[in-house]
Amino acid sequence: AKDKGRNQFCEFTPAMEQEAQERRLLLRDLQQALDEGDFTLHYQPIVDMQSQRTIKAEALLRWQQSVRGQVSPAQFIPLAEESGLIGPLGDWVFQQATRQLAEWRAELDPDFQMSVNVSPVQLQSCKQQAQTWLQHLHDLQLPSSALVIELTESVLMESDKETNAKLQTLQVAGMQLALDDFGTGYSSLSYLKRLDIDYLKIDRSFVNQLTPGNEDNVLCEAIIVMAHQLGIRVVAEGVETQEQHDILRAAGCDYGQGYWYCRPVSPEDFGARLREERSR
Ligand code: C2E
Ligand code: CA
Ligand code: CA
Ligand code: CA
Repeated sequence: AKDKGRNQFCEFTPAMEQEAQERRLLLRDLQQALDEGDFTLHYQPIVDMQSQRTIKAEALLRWQQSVRGQVSPAQFIPLAEESGLIGPLGDWVFQQATRQLAEWRAELDPDFQMSVNVSPVQLQSCKQQAQTWLQHLHDLQLPSSALVIELTESVLMESDKETNAKLQTLQVAGMQLALDDFGTGYSSLSYLKRLDIDYLKIDRSFVNQLTPGNEDNVLCEAIIVMAHQLGIRVVAEGVETQEQHDILRAAGCDYGQGYWYCRPVSPEDFGARLREERSR
């Protein structure tokens, strides 16, 4: 740390050095995990609020690392984005999730849908992304309409012409788009309209504030009304109590997702749940 005072912002402290070192190690392990197939996907039900039937699954990445234990995707996805690893990792997620979807549709429910999180970086960096995905679905004999792509608001706000074109190609083919974490960013209604979003996912920070008689409930209610007027269906994220479910359902919310219905579970457990549900 030299030139103290004159250029404080460039000072490289031991703490920063350590952080940089930790990131390098995490990145090395991330690369290794990808090479060695250490990632798995868990699936969380998305249920129809009226019938409480599981009609979709959201695929969520899991990484069980030997030393660190379970590492959260919220931690390693940003690093994968910065390092370019998100390309191959995102491809793996897409392939894994769609293969699983084909299996469940064949065995349990021909209309079942899968929701996959897509990083804006992944979408921007791969030139042929739309064609690659559509070809892959074709190979699995899956209609594009069986797939929902979850995007965050940043994609809409920063999206360039090319990204828009890719999304449009996917939509024309029948794939559906969901806007994730709605309410946490700055997107205005015009974004929703411009990209012809199919689903809006209300962020769980709104959902977990819902309590009977709370004046703030109007926030969620207004989002639902507005979305419906735009022809967009609404998924509530992070539903943890029956009260929240009841309030949302009464407000006309279409779908729910959260611990109250089911946590993200292994493919085996998800399959068992779906099998049980469909045999009723
Ligand atoms: P997300 O897309 O908003 O996913 C929902 C997160 O909320 C998941 O966390 C899920 O386990 C958690 N969750 C579900 N229900 C509840 C609930 O009732 N209460 C609470 N407190 N949490 C609930 P997870 O699996 O740790 O994933 C975190 C984020 O990492 C995801 O947020 C998503 O942004 C990202 N992510 C996960 N998998 C992928 C992936 O395959 N690709 C990309 N690009 N991002 C992913
Ligand atoms: Ca999501
Ligand atoms: Ca979300
Ligand atoms: Ca549409």
